[in-house]
Amino acid sequence: MLRKTMLALADNEFMTRTVTSNRLTRDLAFRFVAGENLDESLSASHNLLNAGMMLTLDLLGEKITDPDVARRSADEYCTILDRIAETGTNSTISVKLTMLGLDISDEFAHDLMIRVLDKASVHGNFVRIDMEGSDYTQRTLDIFYDLHNTYGDTVGIVLQSALYRTDRDVDEAIERGAKVRLCKGAYAEPETRAYPRKADVDAAFRRQLERLLDHGNYPAIATQDDAIIDVAKGYAMRMGIDKSRFEFQMMFGIREELQYELVRQGYNMRVYVPYGDMWYPYFMRRMGERPANLFFAIRNIVKPS
Ligand SMILES: Cc1cc2nc3c(=O)[nH]c(=O)nc-3n(C[C@H](O)[C@H](O)[C@H](O)COP(=O)(O)OP(=O)(O)OC[C@H]3O[C@@H](n4cnc5c(N)ncnc54)[C@H](O)[C@@H]3O)c2cc1C
Repeated sequence: MLRKTMLALADNEFMTRTVTSNRLTRDLAFRFVAGENLDESLSASHNLLNAGMMLTLDLLGEKITDPDVARRSADEYCTILDRIAETGTNSTISVKLTMLGLDISDEFAHDLMIRVLDKASVHGNFVRIDMEGSDYTQRTLDIFYDLHNTYGDTVGIVLQSALYRTDRDVDEAIERGAKVRLCKGAYAEPETRAYPRKADVDAAFRRQLERLLDHGNYPAIATQDDAIIDVAKGYAMRMGIDKSRFEFQMMFGIREELQYELVRQGYNMRVYVPYGDMWYPYFMRRMGERPANLFFAIRNIVKPS
């Protein structure tokens, strides 16, 4: 219930204006957001890189309907790829198709993805297409597979265990050799499309991560959930799957001690590093996952700044 409310607020324009103008809330958000620009986010990630972690840089923004803003986002992604190459940073990028204009049209977002993927190919880098709410799932997969036919392992996708369809999507990804990041799913979904019970989402995640560890193309297991991480580690060990054949992914600022511990244990660990000034929906999704953070935020909003 609380999570659904937070997710609904994430889409609310009035809240976006009110909350983003509150300095204290902004300060709180920046525990989960690495900076307002690329330089800040690289500097905030310095310790992670030094510890041997990899990054995926994510320029925040979604549901862009202005073609110029979407084009500028694609340009910024090309700049990020140039900077990663210049600085030798161990980082890929993550992109949301609605930031590249999926709400304008599929063709528009597809064409901007080509611009970004051409740049990634030049640098031998990799672009992950984030998965958004289930209204976008099939369109995102259609665009992804079309690009995958041309760009192969330069592009990867995300699948969400919360959705009933995902067992089939995992099978298709395995069949086509696509690189998958598996996560639980961060969006409020109707019961007609997604498991309403957390226990069922967790069970699906376990089932799907085992399939991907067995047959997938370098799967990424994206979770902060100790129990699921233990399932993945235990399964890989029992099946003799080498640590180099998959990676764990977690978000910037969340369960940092666990991130360092996994690196110490010899696992590949990638941190999702969001940055930029369009942080409100991302921040609200993180609040919905962790009510303790939410109460702290509300206290800060009602206090005059
Ligand atoms: C690298 C990465 C990429 C992702 N990409 C996508 C994507 O493309 N599309 C998508 O829909 N979702 C994405 N997600 C979000 C994901 O779907 C979940 O919403 C999110 O990871 C929370 O689920 P969980 O697996 O960590 O488990 P949960 O069951 O939510 O949490 C397990 C435990 O993790 C800790 N934890 C979880 N969240 C927080 C938090 N916000 N603050 C503090 N502690 C917390 C708590 O200890 C909690 O008990 C991504 C997640 C990660 C880590």
